[in-house]
Amino acid sequence: MPFFRHMTAQSYSAVIRRYGEPLSVEEVEILEPDPGEVVVRIEASGVCHSDLSLARGYYPDIPIPIVPGHEGAGTVVEVGDDVTSVKKGDKVFTIWMASCYNCEYCLSGRFHLCENALESIVNASLPSGKLKIRDKAGNSIHHFTSTAALSSYTVVHEKNVVKLTVDVSLEKAAILGCAVLTGVGAALKTANVKEGSTVAVIGLGGVGMNIVQGARLAGAEKIIAIDIYDSKLEWATKFGATHLINALKEDPVEAVKKVGGGGVDYSFEATGNVVAMELAYKIAKRGGVVTIVGVEKGGVNIRIPALDLHMTEKTIKGCYYGSSSPRLDSLKYLRLYKAGKLLLDELVTRSYRLEEINEVFKDMEEGRIIRGVVVP
Ligand SMILES: [Zn+2]
Ligand SMILES: [Zn+2]
Repeated sequence: MPFFRHMTAQSYSAVIRRYGEPLSVEEVEILEPDPGEVVVRIEASGVCHSDLSLARGYYPDIPIPIVPGHEGAGTVVEVGDDVTSVKKGDKVFTIWMASCYNCEYCLSGRFHLCENALESIVNASLPSGKLKIRDKAGNSIHHFTSTAALSSYTVVHEKNVVKLTVDVSLEKAAILGCAVLTGVGAALKTANVKEGSTVAVIGLGGVGMNIVQGARLAGAEKIIAIDIYDSKLEWATKFGATHLINALKEDPVEAVKKVGGGGVDYSFEATGNVVAMELAYKIAKRGGVVTIVGVEKGGVNIRIPALDLHMTEKTIKGCYYGSSSPRLDSLKYLRLYKAGKLLLDELVTRSYRLEEINEVFKDMEEGRIIRGVVVP
């Protein structure tokens, strides 16, 4: 579908019209890019658990209707004025923080905490504050994480894309933008896993598998994978898991104690379920680091025994985007992939068409896939 300058472009997008209900796939219009913005023809789009959480109403303050998707990869087909980092024809993938490079957080190198990018995410708009997707009736639709990548075309700020400089398929590049940055980053950057340590990872979706391989890259000695699906547990051995625990078949606290000698140095939660978050606390040993990566519904609280926290001196960390420097780290992980040290191929378990978006969510909820990628 050609895109002409100074005209709108036709596109198809998955749209959340009401939280908790199936998504619709709609013909929409993409408005032309303003200065600093680009239009990307999306050729592969990973579906992340936070897209599912959004659709289920876990972020009730994010405005609807909205197009989800933040793991897009494709080709730049149009550029606005003053775009410097990419040009027409470049292959790119999306990152979901348009870090401003100018706030307190960016200036201290914590690009994943950028307060201006966060504002765009909360408003579900482009960084300019504008909305550039229109439905058939001409009404505006919001952009999840300023990327709205579950679309055939999307308009984004150039800060939300990274030029693909390594020869890799777009299907694999797509999942770099969230699953790999978040998971590998959680192990290497948020928790800073040390060589020879013991690690446990609860929840083996796209992010959890990447925490497992991040722990392997860090040189962890024992990596315990915990899930309720045997198929996912077996798959985790490819990524570096050394011990497997099916939490439906054995008590995970006791099982981890046996393997880890009282608990693990680093525990990670990647399910988005508060029960798993509390489990992550329980399985960390004295002085251990507990990293909460999953997204739980707004308003839910984690219960931590106060005296135990004092006596054990455990550290509990939140993890947002794997504490990544998204532009730098994503290209570093791609080089590790090319060097055979980081797995990408094994993360994508199925491709879908855009019209099958509700089926992707169902397969995720029922544990059938690690990562589904939509090819619009
Ligand atoms: Zn994500
Ligand atoms: Zn900033």
